[in-house]
Amino acid sequence: MAAPGRVAAFRLPPLPTIGEIIKLYRLKAQRQLSQNFLLDLRLTDKIVKQAGELKNAHVCEVGPGPGGITRSILSADVEQLLLIEKDARFIPGLQMLSEAAPGKVRIVHGDILTYKMEKAFPKHLKKDWEDEPPDIHIIGNLPFSVSTPLIIKWLENVSKKDGPFTYGRTQMTLTFQKEVGEVDVAVVHFTPLVQPKIQQPFELVEKVVRSVFQFRRKYCFRGLETLFPESGRLKRTEQLMMTANVDPTLRPFQLSMSQFRNLCNTYRKMCDEDSSLFVFDYREELKQKKTTRNLLKSTSQPEQT
Ligand code: SAM
Repeated sequence: MAAPGRVAAFRLPPLPTIGEIIKLYRLKAQRQLSQNFLLDLRLTDKIVKQAGELKNAHVCEVGPGPGGITRSILSADVEQLLLIEKDARFIPGLQMLSEAAPGKVRIVHGDILTYKMEKAFPKHLKKDWEDEPPDIHIIGNLPFSVSTPLIIKWLENVSKKDGPFTYGRTQMTLTFQKEVGEVDVAVVHFTPLVQPKIQQPFELVEKVVRSVFQFRRKYCFRGLETLFPESGRLKRTEQLMMTANVDPTLRPFQLSMSQFRNLCNTYRKMCDEDSSLFVFDYREELKQKKTTRNLLKSTSQPEQT
């Protein structure tokens, strides 16, 4: 019988521990790649439990490394497990796991940021978007430097129903590490909604959210004003906040979903009225100002003799 709290439904044959695998294959964590391994199988079981029922599911694990989470996924008796690992040093250890669960594991030595997830699973698993989620799960413990661009890419995929969401509302269970070397991780489980909470294009929602959060400790006014060119910036930011009914002295993390929705809808109207607004790039404006300043400085310097 499985120990209480374990996800075990499939028993792997006796294997070296993750610590022994690390020693055997000399898998020293590379700090510059923010690598950091989970060795405690009770912890990896807990993470995998957050994904829900995995018996007979098709799972993709991103960044399996030495295979702690991988073992917990296999113990949950999945039908198929696809592993995508960028660092070649981990492949032999993962092959050992694959031999311990014959016919279940497929290993890809590749980069999850470019891997074509729309072809990763059998076609018969596809579900309509409005249906229950398909029996497909993505699970991963990745460093922040990868999980941040990845989650943005996947949120865009959700909005366009492509990538892993070609199969329907594929669920994801991802850990977000706080610091390198810290074993404390936050586990976040995502199930895409049938209807988005904000009915605007992904690019627009992403631009508004990114602008608000670029000064996360300041009043939200400070981030939102970067949506507008310098001439008329103050007036247009006030107009945006007033129409969206948002108090300019709220901090970004204090804004509610309905306030974000109002901001996106109002900004959309402003973009419809002024076609140059959506392509406006605050950082580009800053760069140009700096170049002009430098040019002025160099032309006003007295000539050296
Ligand atoms: N999942 C293992 C664990 O929990 O112990 C390893 C976690 S470690 C923080 C992140 C893993 O992701 C490493 O094995 C690293 O090589 C891999 N990785 C990093 N970037 C990747 C990418 N773009 N595509 C695939 N794997 C990646």
